[in-house]
Amino acid sequence: MQVPRRRRRLALTGVAVGALAAGGLTFVSANQALAEEGCQVDYNVISEWGGGFQANVVISAGTAINGWEVEWDFPAGTTVSSAWNVDWSQSGTRFTGGDVGWNGSIASGQSVEVFGFIGNGSSTAPGQFTVNGTVCGDGDVDPTDPPDPTDPPTDPPVGDKVDNPYTGANVYVNPQWSANAAAEPGGSAIANEPTGVWLDQTSAIWGNDSPTTGSMGLADHLDHAVAEGYDLIQVVIYNLPGRDCAALASNGQLAPDEIDEYKSEYIDEIVAIQGDPAYADLKIVNVIEIDSLPNLVTNVSPRETATPECDVMKANGNYVDGVSYAAAELGALPNTYNYIDAGHHGWIGWGDDNPEYDNFRASAALFGSLIGQNGMTADDVHGFISNTANYSALEEPYWAVNQNVGGQPLNQNPNLPWVDWNDYNNEKDFTQALRTELIANGFNSDIGMLIDTSRNGWGGDYRPTGTSSSTDPVTFVDESRIDQRIQKGNWCNQAGAGLGERPQADPEPWIDAYVWIKPPGESDGSSELIDNDEGKGFDRMCDPTYEGNPRNGNNLSGARDNMPVSGHWSSEQFQELLENAYPPIN
Ligand code: BGC
Repeated sequence: MQVPRRRRRLALTGVAVGALAAGGLTFVSANQALAEEGCQVDYNVISEWGGGFQANVVISAGTAINGWEVEWDFPAGTTVSSAWNVDWSQSGTRFTGGDVGWNGSIASGQSVEVFGFIGNGSSTAPGQFTVNGTVCGDGDVDPTDPPDPTDPPTDPPVGDKVDNPYTGANVYVNPQWSANAAAEPGGSAIANEPTGVWLDQTSAIWGNDSPTTGSMGLADHLDHAVAEGYDLIQVVIYNLPGRDCAALASNGQLAPDEIDEYKSEYIDEIVAIQGDPAYADLKIVNVIEIDSLPNLVTNVSPRETATPECDVMKANGNYVDGVSYAAAELGALPNTYNYIDAGHHGWIGWGDDNPEYDNFRASAALFGSLIGQNGMTADDVHGFISNTANYSALEEPYWAVNQNVGGQPLNQNPNLPWVDWNDYNNEKDFTQALRTELIANGFNSDIGMLIDTSRNGWGGDYRPTGTSSSTDPVTFVDESRIDQRIQKGNWCNQAGAGLGERPQADPEPWIDAYVWIKPPGESDGSSELIDNDEGKGFDRMCDPTYEGNPRNGNNLSGARDNMPVSGHWSSEQFQELLENAYPPIN
């Protein structure tokens, strides 16, 4: 299903003025300046459906505006059902919308998309707009008319966003993944678990019949979720330009410089669909851009772990631009919840005063720097997610990372590669600390964390049952740790992994939910080069014979053999995950 798109630009000449003292010299001279410099209100209809439409409003200021109130008359019978980033009211055909504080200022010469709304009725644009009581248009109306005092600003519509969208929610089960799981021996035990709906290329929005995302597009999933009475659906936004810059297995469709395509053909389309009032009662969690921003901290020059592709993405700014745009646009909808991807403890768990060794503080600072870009505010970010599609343990029950073994703390031992000075050995501790650091970098104090536990259970025969008695730090950690990987930088199809905690809400005060964003059984990448038309490359980290690179400390990859292209189904991997589940599957 394709949502029709139409953009109407009303380039009205005339004046828009800031909050002015009525009458007198100030008014006249401001008007003259504005008349010289011009102004406009753009009324952009971005999607339409039977009887309704979504639009956004852009104000361009001739002279700087400090606080705005825009008014117009709709065609008869047209009403606003919801609006965001605006303090609005409607009386008859008359619509009045004021700024909500943070979006009140528009610099001279600047155009700002100030708010958006859902309308019922005709999408035909109004013929005339006023800003702060003055016509920004054809001059038919006396520009000295003061604002109508009978139209006071009203409170913004009560936001439906709740602190934790997962609390009490019946979370959407993707029927396509569920069918794959149920077809496996023993798979019905978990086939009713909720997993992420990945929009891993633009065509996945519409349904592309690929082996990865199948025939259902975004609207199909949302329709199904509504029809089946689900409360919440998890959508993965995953299509950045130059995607997966430190790996090849999930390289995507868009070239490093295709940020405009990302915005207009991918994000805007998703926003239009998610904004359909038919889905207003569904909570939509958007998991935003896996593995993107942390790459700009750890895998760039002058570090040994740099890749040329990540250097490009850092230099061109398109990861930052894309993620902030996605969060701002999706966050503006009344029923969406954005969680930005934050790597995992085995990637950014190192904090240090020396920037050469610091991943933790630098990542939080990078995330914080998104605030203000593309209009993204702290309110657009509901939280962060760790361990997406990764294998890092939720907790290490038998040892602490700063425990003293062999005369020194494990995380200060230069001869202990598993820890390697990392401040954490598990996702619980890591997410708790990262949350605090993120709040210090400008995010709201009520943000919540998600942890992807789809494949981090590490049960099965090799799981230790207690703490090692060894006094040798290396032996101690190897005998005590549940994470059986060869090295924490190993990310592809890890042999021996098992399903982790089943999805659940509120497991800890700072964690909104354990989620299964990576659908178990879907590959991380092919074990050898396989031609495909999904843009996916072959990364040797998915080849079990590969002896590694600086990003995994030059260790064996630990990957399973015989694996298909990323996203494609592997019965063998699914069976192993079931077998090694922890908590075990009964
Ligand atoms: C792949 C995507 C897939 C996702 C979920 C990623 O590694 O690149 O195509 O949708 O995994 O399996």
